[in-house]
Amino acid sequence: MTASILDGRKLAGSIEESLRAEVATFAGVVGRAPRLVVVLVGEMAASASYVKSKADAAARVGIDADVVRVTAGTTTQALVKLIHEIASEADRPADGILVQLPLPNHIDTTAVLDAVPADRDVDGFHPENAGLLSQGRPRFIPCTAAGVQRMLLAAEIETAGKHAVIIGRSDIVGKPLALLLASRGPGGDATVTLCHSRSANLPALTRQADILVAAVGRPQMVTAEMVKPGAVVVDVGINRIASEGKPGGRLVGDVDFAAVAPVAGWISPVPGGVGPLTVAMLLSNTLLAAELRLGSRAPRQT
Ligand code: NAD
Repeated sequence: MTASILDGRKLAGSIEESLRAEVATFAGVVGRAPRLVVVLVGEMAASASYVKSKADAAARVGIDADVVRVTAGTTTQALVKLIHEIASEADRPADGILVQLPLPNHIDTTAVLDAVPADRDVDGFHPENAGLLSQGRPRFIPCTAAGVQRMLLAAEIETAGKHAVIIGRSDIVGKPLALLLASRGPGGDATVTLCHSRSANLPALTRQADILVAAVGRPQMVTAEMVKPGAVVVDVGINRIASEGKPGGRLVGDVDFAAVAPVAGWISPVPGGVGPLTVAMLLSNTLLAAELRLGSRAPRQT
């Protein structure tokens, strides 16, 4: 058996195409494009590259995106003040505001994320948005978790009654994805096991998975022996490892793709899997934020 590929790049392209039309309709009615402001702190190459992908994708669909760059030596207080200033700009309203993570160690990340007003929080990290998701009435769903669910839906992979095992319990990926897959309705109704660094006998848990999601940040940790034959394997991990002849190294996921692909029924590659969908979901959240601000769209129901 060789797994079918969950092609995130292709799916993100088709999502962008429909978003482009929706953004044009919004701009036609409202007289301006939706606007996203991204705060980028410091000089980390990976963060700068993620922010560039987000800004480029926004431009492709007609969303205005501004990147506000701040030096790594900034303070928590200064960042909180900056976010309040961005949120109160009256002439060019920021419909969506996001702070690229990770922040330097001396910054209180929670305080900074909490400063983003809940109705502009297109990353879905504000406690109000996390609470709405946990109650099954999501507003802004964290983009990577939303992207994974969208990937399963697009491939018409049944989730109802299936056992989904997620490795990684972060607030950004694992935890919101567990809530989504366990929620009622399409792309949900799964039985979810959330594994983490203290889970005992991980392979015994992962081998029970009909749907296995790896969101850990450990290169190629999911091996063929950890996967039930025919399972759906979604790889969220993005890790840079050394590679002969490539000075910058190369990107790999949390799944040993070459070993797992012959065992799995479906598998997402890295790069070209979940990453592009994360960006597409950010654009979708930005349009939703703009529409909600103007009262032109009802919040999603699940
Ligand atoms: P995190 O460091 O916040 O969380 C990692 C999780 O993995 C923790 O819950 C931890 O308990 C668990 N873990 C660590 N070691 C483990 C082990 N040996 N066994 C089982 N669980 C273990 O990371 P994160 O922000 O959730 O990101 C995870 C990975 O996903 C990273 O590689 C990150 O770069 C990637 N990521 C990708 C996207 C995307 O768009 N594709 C978006 C966000 C994060």
